[in-house]
This record gives sequence, C-alpha cells and structure tokens, in this order.
Amino acid sequence: VKRTGRGNLEIYSDTLEQARMQLNHIDQALRTADIEAELYPVFQPIIDLKTGEVSAFESLARWQSPTIGAVSPAMFIPVAESLGMIADITKLLFRSSMAEMAHWPATIRLSFNLSAYDVINQGVIHALIEMMLSSQLAPDRFVFEITETALLQDFETARENISLLRRAGAKVALDDFGTGYSSLSHVQSLPLDKLKIDRSFVKDIETNTTSQTIVRSILTLCQGMHMECVAEGAETESQVAFLRAMGCQLVQGYYFAKPMPKERIQPYLAEANNH
Ligand code: C2E
Ligand code: CA
Ligand code: CA
Ligand code: CA
Repeated sequence: VKRTGRGNLEIYSDTLEQARMQLNHIDQALRTADIEAELYPVFQPIIDLKTGEVSAFESLARWQSPTIGAVSPAMFIPVAESLGMIADITKLLFRSSMAEMAHWPATIRLSFNLSAYDVINQGVIHALIEMMLSSQLAPDRFVFEITETALLQDFETARENISLLRRAGAKVALDDFGTGYSSLSHVQSLPLDKLKIDRSFVKDIETNTTSQTIVRSILTLCQGMHMECVAEGAETESQVAFLRAMGCQLVQGYYFAKPMPKERIQPYLAEANNH
C-alpha cells in the first residue's frame, strides 16, 4: 500500500484497480493463448506413510505465457472459467496427464483436479470417461478431485456426474475438506472415496490444539465412512510426525516434494527407491 496521504478508501480502491487491471491482462493473454503449447501439468507426489512409497501424483496446471510469464492456476483457472475455456483446458490437461501416467508403475494413481464448472458439465465428464476407458490404464488408478463450489451451483447434476465417474471405475475425492459451506452434509449425501484435509489445518498442527482436534475428527470420520484421507501441505518433519501419530496414512506437501515437471518423475522415483 502506497502512502499517498490520501484516505484509506482511496488506497483501497487503488489496490482494487490494480487487481482489476492484472485480471484484465490475464484475460487478454488467455484469450489469445496457444493453450496446447502454453499449458501443461506438473506433478506432486502423495506419500503413503506406511510403505514410504508414492501412492499417487496430483496433476497441477501451469501456464507459461510468452507475453506475461508464469501465471498461477489460482489466478488463471477462474479466468478460464469466466471465458468459457475451462472445458477445453481440462480435457487438454487430462490428456497430457494420462500420457505421463502411462510411464509410471501401475501402483501409482493420478489425482486430477476438476473445476466446479467441469463437475456440472456432463459433456466434459463423458469426454473424460471416454479418454480414461480408451486408454490402457485401469480406471481405479484415477482420482478426480472436486471442491464444494460445484455442489453449491447444481447439486443434483454434480451428484449424477460423480456417480458416472465412479461407475466408470474411477475414485472421487473431496478437496480442501473442512473449508466449505456444508462439508459434513456432502459427506452424508455423496458417494465419495476420499477426503483431502485442507492445508490450513495442517499448517499449525504442532501448536494449535483446535487444528489437532479437527484433523483427528476428520480421520475418524474417514475411518467410519471407509474413505481414504490425504493431509495436504505438510512442510516440516514435525508436521508429518504429528500426522503419522494421529494415524493419517496419506500425506502430500513440500516436505516430501514440490510439484515437479514430468521429466523429474523417473529420477524422483528412482531416488525414492534407493531409500
Ligand atoms: P489445490 O488443488 O488445493 O492444490 C494444492 C496447492 O497447494 C497447489 O498449488 C500445490 O502446489 C500447493 N502445495 C502443495 N504442497 C504444499 C505445501 O507443503 N505448502 C504450500 N504452501 N503449498 C503446497 P497450485 O499448484 O498453485 O494450485 C493452486 C490451486 O489451483 C489448486 O489448489 C487448485 O484449486 C487449482 N488448480 C491447480 N491445477 C488445476 C487444474 O489442473 N485444474 C483445476 N480445475 N484447478 C487446478
Ligand atoms: Ca487438489
Ligand atoms: Ca486442496
Ligand atoms: Ca486449495
């Protein structure tokens, strides 16, 4: 915030104006982007603490724009949604992710993020299922990560699409669990295979007894519902130790590895095997 000597309100609107211009910039660049050349997935491992092995890789979108440089998915995914480009981008990223997955050991799953718009778009869901079934990859190696945003928009369609994915043999995970509006009722009313505990509960797990209680409760909930549970965003050894002590089996975070480009996966797996 600049110290302009003007009122707070004006400083605030300056910042808003800047944010708006930045979004405009992204909007312009994305409209004209060669998405096949500029968008690609990177992969972050999800570790099974019991075996020490990689259980899955989560595919995370990256955009390297020749005009504005690297743009975070947290910025460009919402823009792609508002431009009506998300369905094409999702299909493109899924195709690229599947091509990589074909080189991995068959024990490793692919975890793939769906936009809220994808979850309520039956055309996209059908296209993804068709791609998945026409590959030589077992459908139960696919996990589709959804967020509650989609459920708020059109619950019935979202539920039907989740069922379609599961009937095709794939797994469905509820992402960012605990941060949504009515997470528990969604667990009750949807066929889910997996919950991902949001990073906000893992961040201060060593010191905050409320976070500890919440994580413990989510783990108990998963056990009772026969769902798998992944803790996101573990950055330190001590966070991992806490999660392990609480009985959390699957953990993801910078402590193990940051998202990596596809070329890094084989060396990473070879290295992990030597431990
Ligand atoms: P998400 O699905 O919750 O993904 C987790 C985010 O946390 C990723 O950020 C990941 O790089 C980051 N992360 C993982 N471990 C750690 C850690 O230990 N510490 C910290 N500080 N961060 C960690 P990223 O890649 O920037 O993605 C941000 C969000 O953008 C994702 O959140 C997801 O909502 C969305 N996104 C990413 N890729 C895609 C995609 O292919 N499709 C859709 N629809 N959304 C995507
Ligand atoms: Ca995710
Ligand atoms: Ca998440
Ligand atoms: Ca998130």
